[in-house]
Amino acid sequence: MSRIALAPFAAHEKQSRGRVYEEAPPAYRGEFQRDRDRIVHSTGFRRLVYKTQVFVNHEGDHYRTRLTHSLEVAQIARTVADVLGLNESLVEAISLAHDLGHTPFGHAGQDALNACMRDYGGFEHNLQSLRVVDHLEVKYADFPGLNLTFETREGILKHCSARNAKELGELGERFLQRRQAGLEAQVANIADAIAYNNHDVDDGIRAGLLSIEKLREQALFETQFTAVRKRYPELEGRRLIYEIIRRMINYVVTDLIDTTQAKLKQLNLTSIDDVRNHGSSIVTFSDKVHEQHVALKSFLMKNLYKHDKVSEMTDKAKRMVEKLFEHYMAIPAHMPEEFHASASSGDEAERARVVADYVAGMTDRYAIAEFERLTSER
Ligand code: MG
Repeated sequence: MSRIALAPFAAHEKQSRGRVYEEAPPAYRGEFQRDRDRIVHSTGFRRLVYKTQVFVNHEGDHYRTRLTHSLEVAQIARTVADVLGLNESLVEAISLAHDLGHTPFGHAGQDALNACMRDYGGFEHNLQSLRVVDHLEVKYADFPGLNLTFETREGILKHCSARNAKELGELGERFLQRRQAGLEAQVANIADAIAYNNHDVDDGIRAGLLSIEKLREQALFETQFTAVRKRYPELEGRRLIYEIIRRMINYVVTDLIDTTQAKLKQLNLTSIDDVRNHGSSIVTFSDKVHEQHVALKSFLMKNLYKHDKVSEMTDKAKRMVEKLFEHYMAIPAHMPEEFHASASSGDEAERARVVADYVAGMTDRYAIAEFERLTSER
């Protein structure tokens, strides 16, 4: 439970736009707590542990996976939500679900699957996260999917093309009308970026692909490096890195809270609909920190995500995803019964969507095993 009373502009359960299939309210929990619990109990959530964030799971035990990434996002988002008087359970539900639609092998997998789906409406991991909670999880007797509240689903769908938005009914409206999502969604969104910017520095150093010298060109890193060096001149190794990174997180989170709090004070919003009707995102960094944050993000893109060692893995991953897609398109019977059945009932585009759902749901290790089994390649 939150330490601070919910602010008027937070997501209040009583004003929720509800679930697609009506249900009796939970006996002991709030509606958003129930959403979070359903996400934690889902199959997609358990698979996140074997899905790549940047480094393939079997490259080492200490790298982030999609699961530990999602937990770090939730951790950061809950802190921010609590201070701002927002709904902590909702922000947690959104954070834990935000990456459910990711393919195996991180962005390489998503790019490959998107290319495979070029003629069939494309593939986008964010939209897929919504598809997972709305359709692909098969668990409950009374409804398909997890039947989450509108607010959680609104938060999961961070961005959306106009074409897709038109097919999503009331959930897609805001993209056509240029309205915002609630503050909880905005917090989860930015907590995602804070989490990966920082843990990828950590993982990049661990992998030997980023050096402290090079990172010192980045203002966010350099400021904290200097502060730590001054206070603990003897500190070395992992401990030095951890101390810098925890301070980096604290620094940007503090800036985010201060900047957003000042804006909220000024705007004097009285409901979540005021937030939705506001012309732009309210949860933001100051201009200075925003610039530093974006600079670090591009630094990581250039020096880590596009590093030769990472690209090598990326190329292999792309090939595996392409092969798997082609194979199931040609022989849908090689997919499990429920996928095979729906692939056989529709036209080619519908079959492609079912194949994409199946491939996207795979963990890294399952995709590798399937690839080896089907192609007898290693
Ligand atoms: Mg993420």
